[in-house]
Formats: sequence, structure tokens, C-alpha cells
Amino acid sequence: MDFVAGLRCRECGRGYPAEALHVCDFCFGPLEVTYDYERIAATVTRERIAAGPRTIWRYADLLPVADPAPVDLGAGFTPLVRADRLAAELGLGELWIKDDTANPTGSFKDRVVSVALTKARQLGFKVAACASTGNLANSVAAHAARAGMESVVLIPADLERAKVTMTTVYGGRVVAVEGTYDDVNRLCAELTSERPSWAFVNVNVRTYYAEGSKTLAFEVAEQLGWQAPDHVVVPIGSGSQLTKVAKGFEELGRVGLLDEVPSVRISGAQAAGCSPVATAFADGVDAIRPVKPATIAKSLAIGNPADGWYALDVIRRTGGSCAAVTDDEVLEGIRLLARTEGIFAETAGGVTIATLAKLAAAGVVRPDERVVALVTGHGLKTVEALTASEEPTVTIAPTLDAFDQAFDQAFDDSFAEHGRAGTGPTVATADPATAPTRNPAPRSAR
Ligand SMILES: *Cc1c(COP(=O)(O)O)cnc(C)c1O
Ligand SMILES: [Zn+2]
Repeated sequence: MDFVAGLRCRECGRGYPAEALHVCDFCFGPLEVTYDYERIAATVTRERIAAGPRTIWRYADLLPVADPAPVDLGAGFTPLVRADRLAAELGLGELWIKDDTANPTGSFKDRVVSVALTKARQLGFKVAACASTGNLANSVAAHAARAGMESVVLIPADLERAKVTMTTVYGGRVVAVEGTYDDVNRLCAELTSERPSWAFVNVNVRTYYAEGSKTLAFEVAEQLGWQAPDHVVVPIGSGSQLTKVAKGFEELGRVGLLDEVPSVRISGAQAAGCSPVATAFADGVDAIRPVKPATIAKSLAIGNPADGWYALDVIRRTGGSCAAVTDDEVLEGIRLLARTEGIFAETAGGVTIATLAKLAAAGVVRPDERVVALVTGHGLKTVEALTASEEPTVTIAPTLDAFDQAFDQAFDDSFAEHGRAGTGPTVATADPATAPTRNPAPRSAR
């Protein structure tokens, strides 16, 4: 049994039953799931969560649908990695990376889709659909396959190769639309009234879908030993994720999983080629002016973000900030995270890390804070953003001489100490007098 109290309009506050509704009949405001927090508080405990599955479903009491067998590929409970080497480069203290590249289809979207399709199935939908900047398409097609549902995803025609392949391989029907994501989204809004029997995860079941992002806050707190961080940096596409991370931390306080409602600063990250929220923040205005996106961070390329204003409000209320970074900075962010922490992120992750670097340099993210950066998608999804610049250090013939020559010519000076007589342990080579005669090392390679 779930603990949902109903739906409520975020603008005028009118209440609705927890059905397939997403906008207020009265003012067209978006609807939000509300819960019976007293009943949750009487049920949920840290122990009950710890005994649950190692997925988002360990937090089922705080999700909008209860199902003993949810539509589940194992989303969530991804690693929270202490990032000391990256922190040192950025002049920060305690820094953690929430590594959502480890989700089943390689992005945080698996959290929201697992929730959306579980609810959609319960409501009786047989077809899952969405408007996507790529990652949502992958996740909807995969989870629909898992649920035995059909899927139809609409994407902008200029998407990264991997995101198209990953959708079709799961059996999704992919409709490439000649236009921007905002064009795709408008088309999906029209389709939703045309085909009310389809569950458009980010349109007519968006209210439920969005709740899945709260699990990022739940996991961060649990993985920090049931403590909240001081500051979280979140990428912004539609802005939904950012608002739900805030809601998640608040709920932990309300149901007693944290001692009080924590004050967590929430900062937003955007690409300069699509930064309507960062622009409004910088200008100190409330109106989010739509833009035409032009950035390699395609998963964040939403020029008219549905939750942009709400995200801006959270950022301001929590004392966070919002900044935008250029495509070159995005690539540098990807490389920095990969070479310091061994995590390969897609362009959206590069946006987060580059924005974190920028806010740290400006003293907005501070060294005395416990900071968490949300890295939301895997680098292999957007590999073409880097393939032109990332080449082998050197290409050689298969001989020792060629290697030695390459070492002298192509390895940079910082590597010199690791040369033939360099530092570090050396594995003893066998004394030829005592060495076993079996399996002699081949000499032919010389
Ligand atoms: C969709 C997406 C986001 C942004 O989420 P919103 O809820 O639309 O703001 C961030 N990162 C990745 C990798 C995404 O796919
Ligand atoms: Zn309303």
C-alpha cells in the first residue's frame, strides 16, 4: 500500500485524486504528489530501508506507487564516491560524486522511468511513450521491454548515435523529429490529447515520473550515514531533477529519517548554449526566457524548461547558485573527472563538473562544505563529443625498440621517473641459473 494523499496543483493548491492527471483543470498549473507524512513517519525506519533491495525501491514508502514487483532493472543505489583528488584540483575539502553512470541504461533517467512505468502499468496503460533528449528514450525502451509494454519515443533528429542505437535495440519505436527538443515536446503534448491511452512518461504521467528523482537525495543521505550534505550541484534540463532533490531532502526530515529538515544548498549547472535558468539567476529576474539550444550537452538542451521557474526558486530559497559553462569547459570537465577519479561521464556530467569548478573558483562552493556533485550519465553515450580530440598517445610497431623510442619521444617529462630504472616496485626477473626451464620467455620478440 502506498502513502499517497493525492495530487495538488503547484500554483493554486487545488487537490485531485492520484489518477492519470498532470495539469490543474482550473489554472493549468502542474500537479504534485502529496503524501500522508504522519503515516510514513509511523512506518519508515532506517532499518526497514536497509533491509530493502539495493535499488530505488528501498525507498518505496516515499514513492508514489506501491507494487511488490515494480518495473525494475535495478535503477539506483549507485556509488557515492569520495573524490579527494578532484577536490584537491578544485581547492575544495570534502567532495563526493554521486555516480549515476552506473544505472542500468547509463543515466539517472532509470530512476524516474522505473517509477513512471510502475505507476503507468498500475493505471492500466499498455504503451509507454516520451519526448526525449536521448537518455529518457533509452530508459523508457528498456523498462518497457522489461514490463512487456510497447514503447514509442520521440527524439530530435540530431541526437548522438549511441542514444539512438540503445533505444532501437530494446525494441523501442524511435521517431526522429526534425526540430529541437522543444518542438518534440510540443508535438508530444498534442499527441497526449490525441492518444490518451498512451503513457507519455514526461507528459501525462510526469507527476509520478518526477518523484523518482527524490531517490538521489535519499541515497546521498543514507550513503553519508544518514547525514545531509551542505551543498549539492545538479545539472538542469527541464529542472525537474533539481526540484525533486530538494523535495527529497525535505521529506527525510519530515518523516524522521533525518533529525530535522536539513538546510542543503542546491546549485544548478547548465551549458552556456542552453542556459535559460542560469541567465535568469544572473539577471535576478523571475521570468525564464526560452532559448534555442546550441550545445554538445544534448541531454540538457531544453530551451523552454517545464520546471525552470521552480528550479530557480529552489536555488534562491536554499542559498544556492546557478552557472553556465562553454562546450570547451564541458569537455575539460569530462576529462578532469575521468583523469582524477576514474569516472567517465557524458556531456551532462561535464557540465556539472565544469560548473562545480567555476563555482568553487568563485568561492560560492566552499572548502568548508560537504559537497556532492550529481554525475548523471555515462560517457559512452556521447563519445563523439570527444573522439576527434582523444587519440592514442602514440602508435608503434610491435617491438621493444619501437616502444623504447616512443617512450623517449612521445611520453611527457612527468613520466620520466617511471622509465626503465624508475621508482615503484619491480618484479624480480628470474635468475637464469635457477629459473625453471619450462616455458622459457620467448626471445623472438627482440
Ligand atoms: C535528463 C537529464 C538531466 C536533466 O534532468 P531534468 O530533470 O530534465 O532537469 C541531467 N542529466 C542527464 C544525463 C539527463 O539525461
Ligand atoms: Zn491550479
